[in-house]
Amino acid sequence: MEKIKCLIIGSGPAGYTAAIYAARANLNPVVYEGLQVGGQLTTTTEVENFPGYPQGVTGVQMMDDLKQQALRFGSDVRFGAVTKVDFSQRPFTVTIDDEKQIQADTVIIATGATAKYLGLPSEEKYKGSGVSACATCDGFFYRKKDVAVVGGGDTACEEAIYLAGLARKVYLIVRRNVLRATTIMQQRVMNMPNIEILWEYQTKEIIGDENGVNGAIVVHKSGEEKTISIDGFFLAIGHQPNTEVFKYFIATDEQGYIITQGKTTKTNVEGVFAAGDVQDPHYRQGVTSAGSGCMAAIDAERFLAVN
Ligand code: NDP
Repeated sequence: MEKIKCLIIGSGPAGYTAAIYAARANLNPVVYEGLQVGGQLTTTTEVENFPGYPQGVTGVQMMDDLKQQALRFGSDVRFGAVTKVDFSQRPFTVTIDDEKQIQADTVIIATGATAKYLGLPSEEKYKGSGVSACATCDGFFYRKKDVAVVGGGDTACEEAIYLAGLARKVYLIVRRNVLRATTIMQQRVMNMPNIEILWEYQTKEIIGDENGVNGAIVVHKSGEEKTISIDGFFLAIGHQPNTEVFKYFIATDEQGYIITQGKTTKTNVEGVFAAGDVQDPHYRQGVTSAGSGCMAAIDAERFLAVN
């Protein structure tokens, strides 16, 4: 069975940055890219807030740049998804695509999180041309336009407030008659004059044309339907960290995010580290993910030096 020093699972900013650092530390890292090669940033259009790209860059290009940088130092980047792990003893055993097994002295989990979507066909159709699950990434494109945010939690409130600072008007589509968000976030939403809450509404369909989204049909609990005119439709109904395959061994919080120890990337299993959105319900930015990928590689290197 193939045995490696450092296995990195995931190919977002955390995974590739971990690979850059691990390769430069002579850990000969192997990266399994997973099902969504390049991670969540490949679903956004332009990335303008990642330091080092003064003119902005597409998410796809940025992830390819990170990959090339990882390859340059000798990272072994492979297609394939981890389908099973055995972290009960070292070296750890990991199964790829249900068929191949490899052993690893250290593992960096950087599998990210997946934004939840409503499941409407029109949502799929306009992903990247008006439908987004990240206001901080895409909000800028809606300056002085009208947008809608779906959800009633802290993320929805935060995104609505962020967008209200850019857009002309923000509809907050809330399925119940209360917000789940913390009181302070609720108050902030209420204090923004250009946020209109559509209480007890659900989205029936997103409408648009070849230029992208131009409206949404929303339905009130009473059955009454109306069409709102919008250019952007933002999902903020939560994220699902991609931890299913690890959960038997790795401690997570009640939402499934991996718990890391203190200011490190250490998990409850010695030699297994976690970086990026899979362990971060709060910041969820490309640059913070990259930063924690760097930390995980350094933690792995230090672990291997004494184990
Ligand atoms: P939450 O799970 O807290 O909220 C999800 C929201 O989306 C709920 O209002 C829920 O409605 C709604 N929703 C879910 N499914 C649907 C659907 N199919 N249609 C319409 N609405 C739907 O997720 P968040 O991402 O907001 O927050 C996750 C965690 O992160 C929370 O603990 C939150 O406090 C934390 N967080 C903290 C922040 C901060 O402190 N600044 C910022 C962002 C997040 P319903 O209420 O009816 O279930």
